[in-house]
Order: sequence, then structure tokens, then C-alpha cells
Amino acid sequence: MDAKDLGFCSKLVHGGALKDVFGSAVTPIYQTSTFGFESAKDGADRFAGSASGYIYTRIGNPTISALEQCVAGLEESVGAVATSSGMGAIATAYLALLRQGDHVVSTASVYGPTRILMEKHLSRFGVAATYVDTSNLEEVRGALRSETKMIYVETPSNPLMQVTDLRAVAGLARERGALLVVDSTFASPFLQKPLALGADVVLHSVTKFINGHADVVGGIIAARDTDVYRRLREMMVTMGCNMDPHQAYLVHRGLKTLALRIERAQRSALEIASWLESRPEVAWVRYIGLPSHPQHELARKQMAGFGSMISFEMKGGMEAGRQLMDSVKLAMLAVSLGGVETLIEHPASMTHAGVPRKEREAAGITDGLVRYSVGIEDVGDLIEDLRRALEGA
Ligand SMILES: *Cc1c(COP(=O)(O)O)cnc(C)c1O
Repeated sequence: MDAKDLGFCSKLVHGGALKDVFGSAVTPIYQTSTFGFESAKDGADRFAGSASGYIYTRIGNPTISALEQCVAGLEESVGAVATSSGMGAIATAYLALLRQGDHVVSTASVYGPTRILMEKHLSRFGVAATYVDTSNLEEVRGALRSETKMIYVETPSNPLMQVTDLRAVAGLARERGALLVVDSTFASPFLQKPLALGADVVLHSVTKFINGHADVVGGIIAARDTDVYRRLREMMVTMGCNMDPHQAYLVHRGLKTLALRIERAQRSALEIASWLESRPEVAWVRYIGLPSHPQHELARKQMAGFGSMISFEMKGGMEAGRQLMDSVKLAMLAVSLGGVETLIEHPASMTHAGVPRKEREAAGITDGLVRYSVGIEDVGDLIEDLRRALEGA
């Protein structure tokens, strides 16, 4: 069967599989920095690109290629580039695709370091950015300039799970001749296919859902167009933010169960979110799967499911939020998300503490906001854990 015709779960299990001489069932870890050439001519040909074969692990490695080919297939892209971290993927996209004088329109509530990279560093090289709520198309349209070369969207966004209409924003980008780059970390390729909706580049922190086991930091970028893909790969290789073979092996292993993990976690998330909405201690709940979510209908059209990220506001503000986090026993108090274990965190004092209070509040990140990443434990245990903690808080 042609790999392109396989269903998503078959691609998860078999995508990128490498046939080695021993017939090993999984791609081995090629823990090597360099690869021997068969002759001087072979070495020269590999460098020239006229012979196939690996050269040096920063440039490429079979274990890393296996993961890249698997994700490239899942994202319906021409190719994927694995990176040392999610930030490595974002830095690669910015540096490969932007130049002095360019302007970027970005989701305001992007991952904190993404915004810092643009505002503190890319700005020194003459790149400017405007931050808007990209879930509001008029704001995106209003921010576009003749120099706009990239629209950078994170959807669903963190921590309020705002959903941006990718098809519509892709249309705006195309009109302007700008590239649409999507950080799809919160959705994973199982729930969202930005390239099929018109985006040019999709990237992930594989640290989250793709690896899913809280034991690796990594990133990956995939492109729709061969020229864009080549620019991304060249930048990663030159900058040196490559993934390591052992890291790639673990991520590829974790990836195989992506659909199973998310199907279970999102079933639990819907139950937990509905239960939280009924609690007197909770002011409101943001979960994409609830009809109360402002972009619930859009998410239903654009995504294959609602995922496992919930945020909710405690009526008692910061103090109640802190008490809740100190009282839960099963959910682990930690940042990150998308793993098999349930995590809880407080955006205002943790992930978003670097954002000035005024901006934070304008973005809806209030002091009583709690972010909850649902894992694959028994949902009854998770609810009981929250119930005890809420009653104590
Ligand atoms: C975690 C995260 C990143 C950064 O990824 P790292 O692997 O930590 O470098 C980028 N974007 C989003 C949405 C994230 O959640």
C-alpha cells in the first residue's frame, strides 16, 4: 500500500519505518556523529547531493529522518525538520523565513518565549511585529501592512484556548503574499492539519502531545512547499539546533500512541470540564469542547476533536487558585502539558508571570486562572482529586 493512502493511525505506527539489515521492528538508535563514505568520490557526491547517504548527524541521521518522515506524512507536508526543542523550531522558522524590514502579524497570546524571541531579538535585526487577537479576523486584517511577510498563529492558544480560523487567515496571508506559520502544539497532528487548511508551515513543541511522556524536550516543523522546506532545513543545519538520535527515538516511540492518548484524555477532559462548570467555587471554565466556549463551533469544523486542555477561573482569585494547586494530590503541580500525567499550573504566577499585569489582564489571564492538562489516569480519580482540593480551598 502507498504510505499516502494509509489512515492516520496506520501512519502513526508505520510512518518513517526504516528497514535495516536485521529486520528490526523499530528504527534503531544510530548514535553516531558521523558516517563513513565508501570512497572519496562518494563523499564528494554526497556533499554535492548527487549521491544519497548520510554525512554528519547535524545534517541528517537515520533515526531522526524516521521521525521526520513520520511527522511529514501526518501533516500532509513535503517534509519535516526535527529540532532540539520547540523554541528551536520557532527560531528556525523566524530566521529562515524573515529578513530585515519584514513585518509579522502574530497571535498576542503566543507562547511567552516566542514573543520574547521576536520583541527582544528579531527586532534587533529590523523585523517588526504587531500582536493581535487572531481569533478576531478584523484585527488580523487591520494589522496587515505592505511589508507583512508572515502571519504567525498559535491555535488553540495558551492558556485561554482561543481558536483562530485557519482557512480564513490563510486567505488573508495569500492575498498579501505572506506566509502563514502555525504553532499547532496544543492540537497535535491528530486534531488539526493546518497545511490542509492553507497554512504554509506548521510547527510543534514535540515536548507536549507528540512525545507525550514528559521525558523529552524537542520540536518539529513541516512545510507545504519544497522551497520553504529547503530554507527551513538549511537554517536548522546551519544554526545547529538539530535533534539528537536518542531524543528522536523516544519521540518516535511516544508518537505511535498519539491517537490513543488523545482520544482518552479528551473524553476525560469533557467530563472534567462539565463537572467544573457545575462547581460553586469556579467562576467559569474554558474548554473547547463545551458549548460555552466562544469558538466551539469553529473548533468543531476545523479540528477533529477538542483536546485535553482546560482553563478555569477560581472565584476566590489568586489565593484560591494557589490553595487548589497546593491541595491536589494526583495532578502534578508543573508547567508543560500534553503528557500521560495530569498537570496543573497557575499562568499568572508561572508561565505568564513575565507578561506585565496590564497586558496579562487585557489578554484575560486573570489571577484566579488555573490551567489543567488532562492525562490518561482514571477520570473518576481526577475528579475526586479536584473535588477534595476544591472543598479544601
Ligand atoms: C512548550 C511550547 C513551546 C516551546 O517548546 P519547547 O519544547 O519547550 O522549546 C512552543 N509553543 C507552545 C504552544 C508550547 O506549548
